[in-house]
Amino acid sequence: MTELKIDITLASSRKPKPDFDHLEFGKNFTDHMFIVDYTEGQGWHDARIVPYQPLTLDPASMVFHYGQTVFEGLKAYLTKDNEVLLFRPDMNMKRLNRSNDRLCIPKVDEEMALSALKQLINVDREWVPTAEGTSLYIRPFIIATEPYLGVSPSKRYKFIIILSPVGAYYKEGINPVKIAVEREYVRATIGGTGNAKTAGNYAGSLKAQEVAEKEGYSQVLWLDGRENKYIEEVGSMNIFFKINGEIVTPVLNGSILEGVTRDSILQLLKHWNIPVSERRLSMEDLYQAYKNGQLEEAFGTGTAAVISPVGELAWQGEKMVINNGQTGEIAKKLYETLTGIQLGTEKDPFGWTV
Ligand code: PMP
Repeated sequence: MTELKIDITLASSRKPKPDFDHLEFGKNFTDHMFIVDYTEGQGWHDARIVPYQPLTLDPASMVFHYGQTVFEGLKAYLTKDNEVLLFRPDMNMKRLNRSNDRLCIPKVDEEMALSALKQLINVDREWVPTAEGTSLYIRPFIIATEPYLGVSPSKRYKFIIILSPVGAYYKEGINPVKIAVEREYVRATIGGTGNAKTAGNYAGSLKAQEVAEKEGYSQVLWLDGRENKYIEEVGSMNIFFKINGEIVTPVLNGSILEGVTRDSILQLLKHWNIPVSERRLSMEDLYQAYKNGQLEEAFGTGTAAVISPVGELAWQGEKMVINNGQTGEIAKKLYETLTGIQLGTEKDPFGWTV
């Protein structure tokens, strides 16, 4: 499939560009998109780049009924030298295939997918925004398209990539968020689909998110689905704590999404010889550390914000204020280094940018 030729049909007219200084997340889309079809017995076929347009799908398409679908999220950045950089895109394609495996969707050729992505970005290159902190958000996704109401893996799919210029996550400097620890709802459990990037996980999380927002919290911190005791992750971020000088993040247990940012941060911390551990961490133990004055920092990590410091955690009626609600030193250093590598202004000792 690596050799697959991509047919390119250019849009006859180009859309007006949005104001790149005031971009909202995920609302503007570029002039083109990539599509490749899958048919059982034939494999992936008819790879093409076409003008961005609505899809025509049979209402019985299986994705609408049983949610057989996966997606990814990554970004492209424009450097000072007018080069477009992707950050560890191979990791996203690998994760896409792990999600495919869990959802019984046929694998894609990772090199083909990356080559398709590069060609699509080249076609829509002028959509990579230039203002500081902005980027081109990339959304690859796969949907089950066989018209059939039986509950079984689809025999047909579409793999699509769309692109969306997005604004700076922090417009007035990196800002700590308030997060509520979720007690009533669960996101995922071991053996479920928590470590796959699939729509159902996100649909199922909306209710808790809605309740938390009404109470003034921007996101929820999920606990494990079995004992409701161990810390897992935040809405669309992995979570890290600095406890008594050591950086701790929950170990990947099968129900946590394996974040690309999480992995990059673990590598950076080890590179800096900062003590770090991936382990099971209960909310009770975190609370004890807080009470003993040992909870020094907390921050979430993900493609959207890169690093999001946590200034307050709400837990069983108590507001745990962390680092006086301020951004901690480690969070700041990680943010500056990682965004520097992504933008090509910092040395990239790991060879992460493409
Ligand atoms: N957890 C969840 C549930 C997510 O949706 C995301 C965003 N992809 C993350 C963690 C962070 O992953 P990444 O660093 O790859 O963006």
